[in-house]
Amino acid sequence: MDALLTEEERMLRASVREFANRELAPRAAGYDASEAFPWDNVAALSALGLMGLTIGEEYGGAGASCAQLAVAIEEVARACAATSVIHLTHLSLGAECVARYGDDVQRSRWLPPMAAGETLGAFALTEPSSGSDAGDMQTRAVRDGDHYVLDGAKTFITNGPEAGLTVVFAATDPAAGRRGVSAIVVEKGAPGLAITPQKGKMGIRASSTAELAFDACRVPAANRLGEEGAGFRIALSVIDSSRISIAAQAVGIGQAALDAATAHVQQRSTFGEPLAERQAVQFMLADMATRLDAARLLTRRAAQLKDAGRPINKEAAMAKVYASEAAHFACDRALQLHGGYGYFRDSPVERLYRDQRVTEIYEGTSEVQRIVIARALLRENAP
Ligand SMILES: Cc1cc2nc3c(=O)[nH]c(=O)nc-3n(C[C@H](O)[C@H](O)[C@H](O)COP(=O)(O)OP(=O)(O)OC[C@H]3O[C@@H](n4cnc5c(N)ncnc54)[C@H](O)[C@@H]3O)c2cc1C
Repeated sequence: MDALLTEEERMLRASVREFANRELAPRAAGYDASEAFPWDNVAALSALGLMGLTIGEEYGGAGASCAQLAVAIEEVARACAATSVIHLTHLSLGAECVARYGDDVQRSRWLPPMAAGETLGAFALTEPSSGSDAGDMQTRAVRDGDHYVLDGAKTFITNGPEAGLTVVFAATDPAAGRRGVSAIVVEKGAPGLAITPQKGKMGIRASSTAELAFDACRVPAANRLGEEGAGFRIALSVIDSSRISIAAQAVGIGQAALDAATAHVQQRSTFGEPLAERQAVQFMLADMATRLDAARLLTRRAAQLKDAGRPINKEAAMAKVYASEAAHFACDRALQLHGGYGYFRDSPVERLYRDQRVTEIYEGTSEVQRIVIARALLRENAP
């Protein structure tokens, strides 16, 4: 894989890896236990310029490519998966919506504080009664003069309590179904917005998740991104590219599991020999490494297609489903190779096993990815 990276990407990887090992990894277990939001990690990511990595240079970001973002996300996730989801939700969902669909005024207003890490971004599509079937949306936004009035609820919203800016998808014309949805930026403190943190996650526990309730929540009409009715198309397109970030996150978690397993089998002996000498153990390591590298390659292909402005719908779904399942495999085998020690909280693989699981659920479950891939295949090969 090294040979496939550009010199710039290798330098980025080295600096993010060094930073993540120094700043994020030592705090990961503590944050997992406390479930506290890791503000110091966010500040450290900001100081390194990572919170604005893909935001344009004219807005104070680094203007990095999607391929570079994937390299950085893998390294952050390898050290702390919870911090990685905060980071990728901010950039790949929140900032991406504003950068791609905002007008000049909206971009100039919202992107500079996002690039500096002062304003966190969030993305609110899922509702209590609709996740996979996100088009079945109940949240309404009714135009009232130069405002929209929002009523409804969103659930499982990452960065919800901390976000300065949340892109909310709401039906402005319910009769038009998916063509009647609009994307509206709701800023922190909007009147009629209530945010309830959802605690008790299995993994990525330091990341925050929240339910948002809108009760006659008034938002300026000038906060709408794109045309009225374009919201569902915006959501699907942004999720397509963000799936590449989840794939990179999964690879990072899986790589951390492989690293831990490789170290453990060389220092643990049974029946008079290190575990690493057993062929059954070597085969497990070989399969973990091969699947993770295949996942990395699929992720890179999708990222490079995005950077080239090519369609990514099928390729991003392939990267996401394959990488999340490769990471599942790697975390499961790493735990097995640790034996009883892997089953306890003070083992790093126990946390990785829990952190990994959500990569098969959010931004479209594995079943949804397979639906996307199959639909694309059938479309491409229609009789
Ligand atoms: C920690 C976390 C963070 C999240 N962050 C965000 C966020 O920031 N913003 C946001 O909008 N959402 C977020 N989500 C929501 C997430 O995207 C949804 O949970 C996910 O899309 C699945 O929706 P659901 O939970 O409603 O499950 P359901 O849609 O009810 O699905 C339940 C099961 O049925 C399967 N299924 C559904 N339909 C089909 C079908 N047609 N064929 C076969 N199987 C099917 C699913 O694959 C799944 O296994 C987050 C979720 C979690 C857990």
